[in-house]
Amino acid sequence: MKAVHVADRGTPAEVMRPLDLPRPQVTPGHVLLRVEAAGINFADVLTVSGEYLTRTKYPYTPGMEFAGVIEALGEGVSGFRVGQRVACLAGTGGLAQFAAVPAATLLPVPESFSAAQAAAFPVSYLTAYHGLKTLGHGQAGEWVLVQAAAGALGTASIQVAKAMGLNVIAMASTDEKLGLARELGADVTLLQDDPERVQKVREAAGGRGVPLVLEVVGGKRFQESLDMAANRGRVIVIGNASREQANLRPVELMKRNLTVTGLWLTSLLTDAEAAAQAMKEVPPLLASGKVVPQVGPVYALADSAQAFQDILDRKTTGKVIIEP
Ligand code: NDP
Repeated sequence: MKAVHVADRGTPAEVMRPLDLPRPQVTPGHVLLRVEAAGINFADVLTVSGEYLTRTKYPYTPGMEFAGVIEALGEGVSGFRVGQRVACLAGTGGLAQFAAVPAATLLPVPESFSAAQAAAFPVSYLTAYHGLKTLGHGQAGEWVLVQAAAGALGTASIQVAKAMGLNVIAMASTDEKLGLARELGADVTLLQDDPERVQKVREAAGGRGVPLVLEVVGGKRFQESLDMAANRGRVIVIGNASREQANLRPVELMKRNLTVTGLWLTSLLTDAEAAAQAMKEVPPLLASGKVVPQVGPVYALADSAQAFQDILDRKTTGKVIIEP
């Protein structure tokens, strides 16, 4: 079968190659999937360059989330059937024509979803939910600031926030990206480099600053997120797309009684209570049609390195999809 092989850490062009690899065998507790579409996250891109939170063992096949049709069930697997389309959060292995994955990593998919939509929802929508609700405690009528608003997580965050009744201020780097944020329901949009952005965000939220910030850029933008937050505001640290170090001075938090909370979906998935609550609330949102996974550009498996580079170069919107 065709699969992408990452030999070592490096740039996508240097280290990502499509290769012929043996088709994986189904083992007890696992299912064999014929992969239809893989959703690409910023984390996949950071993993190739060796900059992600977890240490990566090379060589490996990237692709943390994907959708496919079940070809075979391993011994002991129940609740799924051959021929069923499912989504999967296996961590690696999605950039391949077939993947053998633990049944515990499978997620049911609404019937109405295309393969690309099925591959686009797990990471972004579960993260948006946990950021806005589990950790952000967002309440209807409150303002939330969504950074990188046209990206995969950003578009999901706008949709989930609107479904929860929040008011959204969306920031992104171009007018085109802000247009997408408005289409998805953002109430106020602002260019990321607007020289008056801090003041404008505070004013948009009634002059008091925003009670909730989903912080994904990091670096010097982190201090700005604190400056944009309201008294007793909650800043949820979800990403560091700038890949720059941020300085946190605890005294800054005291001044306006701020709370800074980290969010990593990988560890939240192992928190049984939080994971169960998300699985109770996110699938009905998806099935209701109130939130629709925002599928971005679609690439062939052979063009995977280009797809990864386009994410790094901030050229993409929505969830980048690779079809094997
Ligand atoms: P996106 O599709 O949103 O792509 C990344 C976006 O980051 C770009 O489109 C760009 O938007 C923005 N960005 C800002 N500054 C930079 C920079 N210096 N270089 C590159 N991009 C920049 O990716 P994801 O939805 O996968 O992820 C968004 C963020 O959320 C990432 O930081 C990611 O690591 C994080 N994340 C964290 C999770 C967790 O569990 N903690 C789960 C999912 C995502 P613009 O051009 O508008 O600035």
